[in-house]
Amino acid sequence: MKLKIALIGNPNCGKTTMYNAITGSTQYVGNWPGVTVEKKEGLIKGHKDALLVDLPGIYSLSPYSLEERITRDYLSDGKPDAVINIVDSTNIERGLYLTTQLLEMDIPVLVALNMTDAADKAGISINEKVLSEKLGCRAIKCSASDGTGLGEVLSNAVDIAVKKEKPEQKIRFRDEIETALQRISSMASQFSAEHPSRWVSVNLFSRDAVLKEHLSINNDSLLSIDKLIKACEEKSDDDSESIIANERYLFIDRVLSKALTDSNASNVSHSDRIDSVVTNRFLGLPIFFLIMWGVYYVSIQTLGDMTIGWTETFFGDWIGSTLSGWLEASHAAEWLQGLVVNGIVGGVGAVMGFVPQLMILFFFISFLEDCGYMARVAFIMDRLFRQFGLSGKSFIPMLVGTGCSVPGIMACRTIENDVDRKLTIILTPFIPCGAKLPVFALFAAAFFPEQSWVAPSMYMIGIGMVILSGIVLKKTPLFSGDPAPFVMELPAYRMPRIKGVAIHMWERAKAFMIKAGTIIFAAAGLIWFLQAFNWSLEMVDAGESILASIGGVIAPIFVPLGFGTWQSSMAVVTGFLAKEVVVATYGVLFGLGEVAEDNPGLIANISNMFTPVSAYAFMVFTLLASPCFAALGAIRSEMKSWKWTFFAMAWQTGLAYLLALAIYQIGSRIAA
Ligand code: GDP
Ligand code: MG
Repeated sequence: MKLKIALIGNPNCGKTTMYNAITGSTQYVGNWPGVTVEKKEGLIKGHKDALLVDLPGIYSLSPYSLEERITRDYLSDGKPDAVINIVDSTNIERGLYLTTQLLEMDIPVLVALNMTDAADKAGISINEKVLSEKLGCRAIKCSASDGTGLGEVLSNAVDIAVKKEKPEQKIRFRDEIETALQRISSMASQFSAEHPSRWVSVNLFSRDAVLKEHLSINNDSLLSIDKLIKACEEKSDDDSESIIANERYLFIDRVLSKALTDSNASNVSHSDRIDSVVTNRFLGLPIFFLIMWGVYYVSIQTLGDMTIGWTETFFGDWIGSTLSGWLEASHAAEWLQGLVVNGIVGGVGAVMGFVPQLMILFFFISFLEDCGYMARVAFIMDRLFRQFGLSGKSFIPMLVGTGCSVPGIMACRTIENDVDRKLTIILTPFIPCGAKLPVFALFAAAFFPEQSWVAPSMYMIGIGMVILSGIVLKKTPLFSGDPAPFVMELPAYRMPRIKGVAIHMWERAKAFMIKAGTIIFAAAGLIWFLQAFNWSLEMVDAGESILASIGGVIAPIFVPLGFGTWQSSMAVVTGFLAKEVVVATYGVLFGLGEVAEDNPGLIANISNMFTPVSAYAFMVFTLLASPCFAALGAIRSEMKSWKWTFFAMAWQTGLAYLLALAIYQIGSRIAA
């Protein structure tokens, strides 16, 4: 049997960082709650017989949110051998609130005082011996990000797990509450043999509904327990849950008055000063848009031009011509040469060319997340979203979805309110994911080399459509309802560690390249085949191919949008496989991999097919239309309904069509 050690703590206390350091994994380190929704398990380096479990971040063990329930169920049913309770030393009072609850659960607990480095800088000094003595469990200082003290945390955790060293009960509330708890405990003991008695009595006292069901206590006992509670409530003029919360904080105050030597909160005021500007009621939103404008402009447009030229040289002139040289020399069949050079090199090459831009975009986004800014954005958006009935919680999946919509859609699970959760799932794909970036970069380079607003405007239109759809859909009976309260603690600003940002950036770029080597590779081969052969499987010009004949049937749909050619229609349709395929399709059709005298290159070929207005309409359509198969799969599995999945697809594609139509029809009149 492996030892199971669970990591528990508040959001942002450094659980994932510690998990990664201990297991050597590269989990997503995010700066907002809800990134870790499911628990994750990994083997501990150097302790082959111990398993580490990363649980969602929570502030308390009450059964109100999904995260709290997951953690609670895991503690009572999963029976970990020990718990490492991570407490952010710079925010120790709030962290210990959860600790007081954990200590009641009769499981070995170790308090890991994380972020010691930051606490030192802020002048907070904790005496771990005193703390440990007052809490009744071991307490060890560490820093997950630079690795100090982690070895000691681990060996102690394994030790308490092996020895089954349960916490000593040191927490004592006010006498009258303790008396009440004792009486509840004696009444409940017959129903709760397998539950820790202190935990049961405290939770019964706070009227924990979930626990009551678990215990199936008879009505008589419930009534007399209720009488006891009411008596206490009348005396303190407070509800029982607040009484307990209050007592916990009083206990923590007593502990800290002994264990904390000095605290000056210089660090916090530093963050506060930044926040007074960045989250300002009037400036917050403009600053956010300015930052995103800069991020998109720099990563897509300034570097976009450079890398596209580089791609054409690299894949067309070098790889393409080298391969065709080889294939010709070895007298390979004409179709094989076409498949390799035009299909694979052209298609995959067109997509791979965008890896540098993507890495830069992801670098910026990871940086903004890691330094603590993105958490503020959820808070800023809360004000905006509240106007039409959603809360800032709905913006978190959209932040996660900037890389790829799939994890974004999955992050919607943290939204308790079912109506808001469904709505957020439908809206999350409007935020441009990494796969749509090549389309924007290619088109921006081909049509708008001088207009710096073009790539950033895609992000803005995405957000604009989230808001517009939110306003419209919230008015329908399907989604009506008031916004849920949104409480989120803002982490202090931190200079991100470059290693963390780099890992994060690399993870996303790697996923993109793997996709290019698999799905895009296969799709490029297929597209090449369809544009090289006709229905009787003879090799023909692209214009007479299978692809052209299918595209020709679909094309009329897109004529009003300005891109009713068979090529572009097929690019749109194949884009549903994966959005990168849009660019791959053009790469194949316009022979990126081919070095022919009469081939002017990818950009020049595309320029001939669009006007700037129709190009922009195409970009907007790609941005908003139904997402790729993988994202649709995620929508289906989160919605658990085909009806809702189709609704999402229809809403997204319908809106994309209408907006692209408006842009083309109005734009081309203005341009004319
Ligand atoms: P989680 O929400 O509990 O999983 O927390 P994360 O692991 O995502 O960490 C939140 C933030 O705190 C990240 O920006 C980490 O880089 C940072 N962090 C984690 N541990 C430490 C530490 O020991 N010292 C400092 N200074 N920062 C840390
Ligand atoms: Mg985490």
